[in-house]
Amino acid sequence: MTAEIIDGKKLAESIKEDIKNTIAVRKAQNLPIPGLATVLVGNNPASKTYVANKIKTTAALGIRSYSYELEENTSQESLEMLISELNDNPEVQGILVQLPLPEHLSEDKVLHSISPKKDVDGIHPYNAGLLSRKYSEPLFYPCTPSGIMRMIESVCPDISGMKAAVVGRSSIVGMPTAMMLSRSNATPTICHSYTKDLDEICRESDILVAAAGSPHLIQGDWIKPGAIVIDVGINHIPDSTKPHGYRLVGDVDFDEAVKRAGAISPVPGGVGPMTIAMLMANTLKAIEYR
Ligand code: NAD
Repeated sequence: MTAEIIDGKKLAESIKEDIKNTIAVRKAQNLPIPGLATVLVGNNPASKTYVANKIKTTAALGIRSYSYELEENTSQESLEMLISELNDNPEVQGILVQLPLPEHLSEDKVLHSISPKKDVDGIHPYNAGLLSRKYSEPLFYPCTPSGIMRMIESVCPDISGMKAAVVGRSSIVGMPTAMMLSRSNATPTICHSYTKDLDEICRESDILVAAAGSPHLIQGDWIKPGAIVIDVGINHIPDSTKPHGYRLVGDVDFDEAVKRAGAISPVPGGVGPMTIAMLMANTLKAIEYR
């Protein structure tokens, strides 16, 4: 058996096309169009690339873009002052602070300072709290977990009663993904670096979401035959045949897993493009909270 490939790039393109059309219609009708502010602090090359991609996508969809690039030694006070201004700016509906921040800055304080109504990343504690409450809806669902859910739904629209393993319990990926799986009536097990018998938990799972940041952690024979496998990991491993001397791999041994899974997402071309598409969807949604 060879798994169906869940093409995140293609799925993301169709989501972005819908957003682009909606924005074109809004423009034609003289309705407000959304604006996204990106805040980048310092010179982390990966962060620079991520922000550049987000700005490029914003422009392609007709979303207004406001880009702030701050020095590595920016103080907590001046960063929070900028966020306060953006919170009050009616032209800006979404605020994205690229993480990680330089070590001298408190990410937690920065995230708290963003208005939950402009938290298009969906990671403000207010929105995270609402996500965990049974009868409430967060103002925004977090981008990467939303992308993961859309990918799962694309191959299995009803996951009620299915067993899921989420490997990783971070606040931006693992934990909210488990919440969202539970809200869709699956039964998730949240795994982390202290979890015992990880292989056994994976083998019993109809859905496996790998978000540990550990290359090829999930081996082929850990996959339950027919399972849906979403690989979130982005790992650079040395490869002298590549121009940069490295290549990207996920957390799953794709070549082996593809022989057992029912459906699997690749790296690259899986969750990455979906995260950006969901950020754009959240930015469009933010107009509702103007
Ligand atoms: P993180 O470092 O904050 O969390 C990693 C989690 O994995 C932790 O909970 C840790 O306990 C767990 N873990 C680590 N090693 C493990 C092991 N051997 N066994 C079981 N659990 C283990 O990372 P994160 O921010 O959640 O990101 C996870 C991965 O996803 C990274 O590779 C990151 O680059 C990638 N990522 C991708 C996207 C995307 O859009 N594609 C977005 C966010 C993160």
